[in-house]
Amino acid sequence: MGVCPLSRMALLRDNFTGFLHPWARPNVLPCTPWGAPIIWDGIFDPDVAQKTATQQNFTIGLTVFAVGRYLEKYLARFLETAERHFMPGQHVVYYVFTERPAAVPHVTLGPGRRLRVQRVARERRWQDVSMGRMRTLHGALGGRLGREARFVLCMDVDQHFSDAFGPEVLAESGAQLHACHYHWPRWLLPFERDPRSAAAMASDEGDFYYHAALFGGSVAALRRLTAHCAWGLRRDRARGVEARWHDESHLNKFFWLHKPAKVLSPEFCWNPRVGRRAEIRHPRLLWAPKEYSLLRD
Ligand code: UDP
Ligand code: MN
Repeated sequence: MGVCPLSRMALLRDNFTGFLHPWARPNVLPCTPWGAPIIWDGIFDPDVAQKTATQQNFTIGLTVFAVGRYLEKYLARFLETAERHFMPGQHVVYYVFTERPAAVPHVTLGPGRRLRVQRVARERRWQDVSMGRMRTLHGALGGRLGREARFVLCMDVDQHFSDAFGPEVLAESGAQLHACHYHWPRWLLPFERDPRSAAAMASDEGDFYYHAALFGGSVAALRRLTAHCAWGLRRDRARGVEARWHDESHLNKFFWLHKPAKVLSPEFCWNPRVGRRAEIRHPRLLWAPKEYSLLRD
């Protein structure tokens, strides 16, 4: 399928996306219909992004929530592997949100890297912990995090880094293709369909199904995203409805209305239990097995 001309335009706009071998991956889609690059291993040159980021000398934020048993189960490995693989050589600030700051594990940080812990109230239902992230992130982006970071990545904690995860993911707004749904036809994608929900999408709507375990962008773009999702979640609650996949449903609605400037291939947030796939060459972040009976009440 080669490279679409729109993607060349995207390249001109975005100097974190250096084309390497646009024809190197004939079986994957290298750009969206609106011209955003889809970052597959081998098509884009991560060194271009690394150079741009180093020249611009900004700080990259990484937010993660670890509430209840998710803290002991996942946080140490998430942070330790991030120290090895997340934005090596860049200025990084981690923001950990938890109800128990004293229980956050000590992780030795490399030069130019900081960790801040912010206390959040513990919600009773796991769904409320997950959904509450949008409002909390909105506040943090409007405060210290927003002042110190130029770009921010927002992630689930139940995953770990397995290989280099660098500035090639950065963009004004970035969305992650869901490892379980990236090859499904649109009508099968699990968007919210209940028209009472603010996240509702009609059967002919939706570009891709995005995974809420990883999204990112500039501070201003993420302020808009989190405001939109927090508003939708509040309106649903007032109407007594809850979208099928909680905050993820609202995130998908947002990205339908406001197309992401960059899309990450499932290699950036891969589920190893899907099994081997020819197009998944270089996974960088791996889902942990789902152990809900241990984690959720
Ligand atoms: N989370 C948490 N404690 C909870 C529920 C959720 O810390 O009790 C956070 C955690 O970062 C988790 C994310 O919210 O990774 C989303 O929840 P989960 O990973 O269980 O959702 P799934 O990936 O299964 O959709
Ligand atoms: Mn998760």
